[in-house]
Amino acid sequence: MGKSRLFYGLASVGLILLVACSKKSATNGTGANVNVAPKGILTLPHETTTLENGLKVFLVKYPSTGVVAYQLGVRVGSRNEVEAGKSGFAHFFEHLMFRGTKTLSSQEFGAIYTENGVSYNAWTWYDMTNYHGEVASRYLDKILAAEADRFQNLDFTEAALKAEAGAVLGEYLKSASDPGFLMEETMQELAYKSHTYGHTTMGYKADIEQYPNRYQDVWPFFKRYYRPSNVRIVLVGDIEFDKALELVRAKFGAWENPADQPQAVTPEPEQTSERSRVVEFPSPTPTRIGIAYKVPAFGTQNVESAALKLLVDVYFSETSEFQKTYRFEKGWLDSVSATPLETVDPGLWKVELILSDSGKDKEAELKQAVFDVIAKIQSSPADAAELAAAKTRSRNAALTRWFSAPDALAGQINWYTNFEADFAVLDRLFQRIDEVQPSDVVAFAKKYLVAAKRTTVTLRGKVQ
Ligand SMILES: [Zn+2]
Repeated sequence: MGKSRLFYGLASVGLILLVACSKKSATNGTGANVNVAPKGILTLPHETTTLENGLKVFLVKYPSTGVVAYQLGVRVGSRNEVEAGKSGFAHFFEHLMFRGTKTLSSQEFGAIYTENGVSYNAWTWYDMTNYHGEVASRYLDKILAAEADRFQNLDFTEAALKAEAGAVLGEYLKSASDPGFLMEETMQELAYKSHTYGHTTMGYKADIEQYPNRYQDVWPFFKRYYRPSNVRIVLVGDIEFDKALELVRAKFGAWENPADQPQAVTPEPEQTSERSRVVEFPSPTPTRIGIAYKVPAFGTQNVESAALKLLVDVYFSETSEFQKTYRFEKGWLDSVSATPLETVDPGLWKVELILSDSGKDKEAELKQAVFDVIAKIQSSPADAAELAAAKTRSRNAALTRWFSAPDALAGQINWYTNFEADFAVLDRLFQRIDEVQPSDVVAFAKKYLVAAKRTTVTLRGKVQ
């Protein structure tokens, strides 16, 4: 449906921009050195509360007069689709959340947003479903009332479900016309044997085709995951803490957790040998090479996630030797993407190359070039100045983009609190980046970027 969409690819949700908080040393009036603690990234006034039912509330005052950005993050995504035949259910459910409540039809529900001038949307991803928008602060009570209504009193007919099933199948078919989607679908399936990351957020086509018959099955899913203890509300903008919290409490405070519990996700056994596959896209398209490694879940308890981010910046960004040589000098590549995808369980870090016309016969050389870069990372520590520059770039990018608008900041807070549910995760993220030493990057590459943990997919277009 028009008001909801699925984000794909590393660059969409995952524009995770990093900041390094450098530890500064200041000199006081007596000439003694005073250590000044690194300043937190979130310098705006903020407050967090957990309601008695477990719902977490994150509030930030942002200088956006009269406007507030809101996000309702649900800790459910395709990762939670553990039952056979029900892949893509989290995304399907995101669509169903627009189909009305016990007291409002779908049209009446939508009219509340339109009449109050709200821009709103939703997306689903591996680990999360998110309902978000921007509203004039004076209408925040109306929007929170509407959100509370659909989270607690969702209701729709079997006919409405069938209509939405058709819309989702259409969305799948549109996605499937993109070679990037076939790459993602193939890569996830090949890299995961047990874990639900083996299917994309869209789900399998065969399962989607059965959605019209799933009316009885969607309600248990709703009760398991759309529960206060599994939801976060983030408000960033022109708010008063007390009033905003009072509003949230009034609309969501009486919401009770259903007895149904989220289902356990099967862990993925360790990958012990390399996997590779060649697929053909059913129409002409430039060749793509995806080289992926199993990497740890996102976390700030150690420097591993931070080391990977810096490694990507130094060795695979637009200014890297790799891109300089193979993309800009030889001209063999149209694009290189390598942004790490942050995940709740161990995930994939993937370098994806799109070959140019002049590089179309260079598959073997380009694969070897990526392996050579990784061998170099493992054998010689990164230049300290280059690593420091990457930390600075991360900080500047975050300061620019995170704080560009209230909805941008709300999105970052919602994204990171899905992993570690406190504001301080933002500061820890930058502290870990600041701590990364050249030896940490070497250690990361030696431990994780090895052939036994590698999955390679080559996608070639159909030759006409
Ligand atoms: Zn959708």
